[in-house]
Amino acid sequence: MSDVRSALVIGGGIAGPVTATALRKAGIDATVYEAYPAPSEGIGGALALAPNGLAALRIIGADDAVRQASIPITRSVMSIGTSRVVMPRIEDLPPLHVIQRVDLHSVLHERADASGVRFDWGKRLVGVDDGPDGITASFADGTTAAADVLIGADGVRSTVRSLIDAGAPAAGYTGLLGLEGCANVDLGLEPGTMTFAYGARAYYIYWPLPGGGVWWGANLPSKQYLSLTEAREAPAQDWLRTLRDTYAGDVPGEILARSTSPEALQVTGALHIMPPVPRWHRGRMVLVGDAVHAPSNSSGQGASLAIESGIQLARCLRDAPDVASAFAAYEKLRRARVEKIAKRGAALNRTKSPGPVARRLLPLLMSLAFRVMPLERMFGAEQRYTIDWDARVEAGLPSTPMPDGMRHGGGLRRDRTADL
Ligand SMILES: Cc1cc2nc3c(=O)[nH]c(=O)nc-3n(C[C@H](O)[C@H](O)[C@H](O)COP(=O)(O)OP(=O)(O)OC[C@H]3O[C@@H](n4cnc5c(N)ncnc54)[C@H](O)[C@@H]3O)c2cc1C
Repeated sequence: MSDVRSALVIGGGIAGPVTATALRKAGIDATVYEAYPAPSEGIGGALALAPNGLAALRIIGADDAVRQASIPITRSVMSIGTSRVVMPRIEDLPPLHVIQRVDLHSVLHERADASGVRFDWGKRLVGVDDGPDGITASFADGTTAAADVLIGADGVRSTVRSLIDAGAPAAGYTGLLGLEGCANVDLGLEPGTMTFAYGARAYYIYWPLPGGGVWWGANLPSKQYLSLTEAREAPAQDWLRTLRDTYAGDVPGEILARSTSPEALQVTGALHIMPPVPRWHRGRMVLVGDAVHAPSNSSGQGASLAIESGIQLARCLRDAPDVASAFAAYEKLRRARVEKIAKRGAALNRTKSPGPVARRLLPLLMSLAFRVMPLERMFGAEQRYTIDWDARVEAGLPSTPMPDGMRHGGGLRRDRTADL
């Protein structure tokens, strides 16, 4: 039984509310401190949750609400020029679910609220005083707060990461800017189909919305790095012009760009990727989510991994005898899995700007890859991962291995480091 009774959670995005809710479930008091002045302010875009992310959300009772607010993706297609390849899927796994980020935030905040988590908005962490008996956070508005531990769920440009280690690596820039929008067009797409499209100059992704229209996300190559604030300074009309030039001649990229109005365009900013972080914790501080393991958005796993990590961290703080062993057990449980997935995401990222020869060969290479490397080996361990909340985290051991490894008929597997 842990001696941790209270936690300051920095960041109210995805990892923050999930970790705080799981901490409450573990009997630990948690308050979330978010820099934005109000819930989900300025948040845009959509994201896909993988079966492992939804399985983890089940532990805090948020999976059904997320399913209700999302669209199941039952079919994935890869498109290059005029070639279309239907990608195989692992039949016994539940589908991906795409959800608007603002809807995911509101489900997670409501769930956290209902479990007794407090939210304090407009609190930007700027410093800490880490002592033997507790930790005190200082915020930009001059206020402070104290607890037994401080959890950095403050995203890819984490302040807590540099408070833990001033020499910590910064997030890398993928060379791509993210823009999303709703195109007011009917392309006759089969419901539940997500298409990953390699345009002549840029990659994009799209799926039909049940109420009409097509949601699409562009990955715009840009040598110049733009923060979200900088990217949003340019008028939407200018971005639309760039998108229309970039996707000119692409089917259906050109039509998507032409059918998107400035009001329906959302700028999501530079796409980042986090290199391995040498120090996940120090003293009473620890990192979770993108702050410590942001795989490229190509992996489709950033949010799901953030959710898993939040829940695993809460288990460790519940069971380990002290802070140091809780953080060590947490890192041991998580590091190999998240770094392996980040590697896959980085490799996929490199395929997003193929040269002319690679572009011609890509459909063939992809079909071959699926034949040579069975899908189960590529994605099975990644997406079947589930957490056994009730299993005790033993000091020095990642978790209790389960005998059969399989549960609830959907083909999901319990947490074992061997299953990374
Ligand atoms: C365009 C795009 C598409 C993506 N698509 C997918 C997808 O399809 N599937 C998927 O799984 N993942 C996707 N991701 C990744 C996913 O969004 C992240 O992995 C996820 O948001 C991580 O959650 P988080 O809570 O760790 O960080 P965030 O969601 O970034 O939340 C961090 C929070 O901390 C706050 N904060 C920062 N600094 C401070 C401070 N000093 N003090 C207080 N608060 C602070 C921020 O304001 C923010 O609210 C995508 C990302 C992008 C950019």
